[in-house]
Amino acid sequence: MKNILLLGATGSIGDSVLSVIEQNQQSLNLYAITLDSNTSKAKDISESFTPEYIHINNEKSFNKIKEDNEINSKVLNGSSDLSALINDDNVDIIVSAITGFAGLEATAIASKTGKTILLANKESIVAAGELILLSAESSGTTIIPIDSEHNAIFQCLAGEKNTDDVSKIIITASGGPFLNKSLSSLKGVTKEQALKHPNWSMGSKISIDSATLVNKCLELIEAKYLFGLDEQFFELVIHPQSIVHSIVSYRDGSSICQMSNPDMTVPIAHALSDSRRLKNNFDAIDFSSLSLTFNEFPEDRKKLENIAREVCKNGNSSGIIFNAANEIAVKNFLEDKISFNQIYDVIYRTFEATPMSNITDIESIYEKDIESRMEAKKVVKSIS
Ligand code: NAD
Ligand code: MG
Repeated sequence: MKNILLLGATGSIGDSVLSVIEQNQQSLNLYAITLDSNTSKAKDISESFTPEYIHINNEKSFNKIKEDNEINSKVLNGSSDLSALINDDNVDIIVSAITGFAGLEATAIASKTGKTILLANKESIVAAGELILLSAESSGTTIIPIDSEHNAIFQCLAGEKNTDDVSKIIITASGGPFLNKSLSSLKGVTKEQALKHPNWSMGSKISIDSATLVNKCLELIEAKYLFGLDEQFFELVIHPQSIVHSIVSYRDGSSICQMSNPDMTVPIAHALSDSRRLKNNFDAIDFSSLSLTFNEFPEDRKKLENIAREVCKNGNSSGIIFNAANEIAVKNFLEDKISFNQIYDVIYRTFEATPMSNITDIESIYEKDIESRMEAKKVVKSIS
């Protein structure tokens, strides 16, 4: 039996992880969960899965659930409780599914445990990939990606670390709700339109990232760190059907891809499996009606892609700045303070204005993140 700590249990990835656990209760046990503030969902999870612990980030929500005293799980709050939970000897697998930079604290602690991390929280890798990968390596922590593209690459590499024979890796992108639309035609789009992804149902932050294609740029950086390859090995390609989740080409001419209908339980079930594949309810691909297309990453988003490539090459503080600028831009778009196209302005101008600096430890990452957010807020103020 594997004990799972699910970080970010009340989100969209959380739902998919819970579904896989429910279908495989003979081998998987939900030992503990964390969340920000959705206490009613926390109560439902507590009833259905009876985890030992529930860590609630938001203090008000924590106090409320304690007062209500309606659940059997022990409730926790604060950094030291979070750290103790991640280091709890009973925990075998840590699923990192908090959204945004907020997931860094837990992911960084998890990377020192020597346990297995299932990684969805790409932002922590974009901002702190070097540090997290280093501490995972020195502590013997295994990182298995559950971002669908990265899990696909992982499967195509057959889990092997040796990537010497790889000639190219194609990361696919659905193109999001504004597929084939030029940037100049998107000025007036609403957040409701931007949140409506054609293939995937996801949290609001990653949905906007998919609409802007920033998500693919974050994933390029994530892939560079997770697979230890230079950025020029990776190509971003638009594949509107979201069936082929990525492709690895080898120097002998073979290309291997991983396919499934778009459903996050598929990569999660793979990552949670041991020697055997797990049971999973999924919609099988109807190969008889399959039509797959692949197109170039749009020319008018090349500047964005180039920034991501620069982050891959330069490392250090560049990923922190890129991520922070995007998080501030998305937040302000969702609050109707800037337009869709201004998300790009905030990213480009913040990236230009924030000086690069040397990142030596986790403290310097937090400092740079604060500085970059301040710079991004200045840009927002100047354009809104
Ligand atoms: P979501 O918004 O649906 O859920 C986020 C979860 O994080 C919630 O449980 C929330 O309570 C928790 N959370 C938010 N802020 C927190 C904080 N400050 N402290 C503690 N917990 C906090 O997000 P999601 O769509 O499930 O995405 C989660 C992560 O997985 C993101 O990094 C995203 O990029 C990545 N991801 C998601 C998908 C997907 O299909 N949804 C696919 C690939 C990767
Ligand atoms: Mg993805």
